[in-house]
Amino acid sequence: MNYYNIPQPKRIKTLEVKVGDLLIGNNHPIRVQTMTTTDTMDTVATVEQSIRCIEAGAELVRITAPSKKEAENLLNIKNELKARGYNTPLVADIHFTPNAAEIAAKIVEKVRINPGNYVDKKKFEQIEYTDVEYAEEIERIRERFSPLVLICKEYGTAMRIGTNHGSLSDRIMSRYGDTANGMVESAMEFLRIARSLDYHNIILSMKSSNPIVMVEAYRLLVNTMDVEFGEIYPLHLGVTEAGDGEDGRIKSAIGIGTLLQDGIGDTIRVSLTEDPEFEIPVCKDLVKLNCQLDNDSESQRPKTNTQFQIPNSKFQIPQVIADYMLAETITQQDLQSIGYTYNEATDKWNIGDAAADFIYTSNKILNFALPGTLRVLVDANVWNDSLDNEKYFPFYQGNEVLNDNSKFKIQNSKLNFVALDVSKNVDIIIEATKDNNTIVYVVYSNETNGMQQCRAFAQELATQNIHNPIIIAVESYHSSIDEQLIHFAQKAGALFLDNIGNGIWLMNDPSKIVNQKVNGRIYLPVKNNHQFLNNTSFGILQATRKRISKTEYISCPSCGRTLFDLQETTAKIRNRTNHLKGVKIAIMGCIVNGPGEMADADFGYVGSGVGKITLYKNKDVVKKNIDSETAVDELINLLKESGAWVEETISNNSN
Ligand code: SF4
Repeated sequence: MNYYNIPQPKRIKTLEVKVGDLLIGNNHPIRVQTMTTTDTMDTVATVEQSIRCIEAGAELVRITAPSKKEAENLLNIKNELKARGYNTPLVADIHFTPNAAEIAAKIVEKVRINPGNYVDKKKFEQIEYTDVEYAEEIERIRERFSPLVLICKEYGTAMRIGTNHGSLSDRIMSRYGDTANGMVESAMEFLRIARSLDYHNIILSMKSSNPIVMVEAYRLLVNTMDVEFGEIYPLHLGVTEAGDGEDGRIKSAIGIGTLLQDGIGDTIRVSLTEDPEFEIPVCKDLVKLNCQLDNDSESQRPKTNTQFQIPNSKFQIPQVIADYMLAETITQQDLQSIGYTYNEATDKWNIGDAAADFIYTSNKILNFALPGTLRVLVDANVWNDSLDNEKYFPFYQGNEVLNDNSKFKIQNSKLNFVALDVSKNVDIIIEATKDNNTIVYVVYSNETNGMQQCRAFAQELATQNIHNPIIIAVESYHSSIDEQLIHFAQKAGALFLDNIGNGIWLMNDPSKIVNQKVNGRIYLPVKNNHQFLNNTSFGILQATRKRISKTEYISCPSCGRTLFDLQETTAKIRNRTNHLKGVKIAIMGCIVNGPGEMADADFGYVGSGVGKITLYKNKDVVKKNIDSETAVDELINLLKESGAWVEETISNNSN
């Protein structure tokens, strides 16, 4: 096996694109960007918010231009920024309005178009196209898109062809479906036209609110460009409608971080339902974690990974291991942080939806009866001291399983956990344990290419038909909680996205964490470290759709089109619905893009006018233009009418 000496990944070499004075691609540093949420017609508010973003570190600022008048006002915004000493390149965000794009392209340094709606109007129609009809459609796009390309060429303006999973055109949907393939083809149609006009100042993106789809689409796009053109345009990475707080950060870190770790990505945006300047520290953490990657030469382009399935597992769903190694004592109350609440009066446990499956105690045997679904890992040398072989399982440090000492013999008849540092050669341990189906490998590596080593190790096991479960263990010693969150999400998430892992075990040393203030705001302060690790583990499994333990929120980051206070409304909806395990609720700022962009949500809450909300069930309107004052109640009624509502309860379990 050669998992431990696989080469360090390298950044994929892309073409160089010039956005104002900023160079993107061609191994230039990964650029970070965000988008304003103000009304574009409010010049002062947009300028001031842009400045807050620039001061936080944004290297590009995107501003929505829904119609000609906003596109024209970009000139006032640009001039005012210049007058205040800021020359950061601006990007006009365009949906549906080619005439606004053509105006903006003469003013700002870059325009972003959405190939799903630049020429096509989405009507959710299924049409069968013959090849001739399809070719005619492409000609129609060429006619409408070429003028913008020629303006960009003349003015030296860059362009992003930004595909969104949720807003593919009816034409693409009819031929390719709602797939990564469709996303790639949607961009390629426009890219081919631009190339035919000898215009190359182009960046591409393949965003989705589902990191699995997003990662697959970027990988496919890289391969498609490489095969068709022999060169790769720079890529802008992002997970759309990621939401807010921990969940938004986890989803973004998994999607963006997975690709960055494999050397894909030249510029990034983390879309959070928060003020845009708060997106920048998350971007910077991601860039920092991945900046060790060497630059690539064309001949050494890394191969993108193909997904594979780890066969078989003792565990039906990925297991969560809570790490209590550093705890001096463990009481019943301490388990509340990992989903188990003990009621002393009734001697019963309440078990939450996000309750850990195992707890690692190092050498501590607990002096109380455990809740029904919780099991304990203890160090192999003390395992015999536990009296309950059904609940306690031994944990071996690699070579210990090879030890003749009886304390280290493989002891339990059901499960034995073995830690493997796959940055080293562990073949001898694998050889000794591979035929024993009680063995669970706890796999880790602290090397910069640790994710790739774990992936190569899992691939090697699959090749050799070794089916023992793999627990992904990640340790983080970053000094801020937000950096740890990003680190955990990208390292473990990248593996779960590729279907590697039957469990997750996150570790840290809470005494090393320093709460960090950014722009006067404290990020994710740790009230309880065990709870932080447990929430992060379940969040990673949810974002990678491997284990659903809570409601999923798909909320847009808001922009100049937003028709209500998205942050406040998201918090209100979350507060009422966060017990609806597995239900996907989208909260979208406008009716123009919201319905298209909310992808696979079960229910949608969409701004449709000032003080007006339209509610959706899947893609269908069910309540139109209702008063925003009563809209959250109406959403709850809709959930009830649709059978998606349950009253909030906590399951009981006696020990
Ligand atoms: S869905 Fe949200 S972010 Fe997208 S255009 Fe509408 S308001 Fe802006």
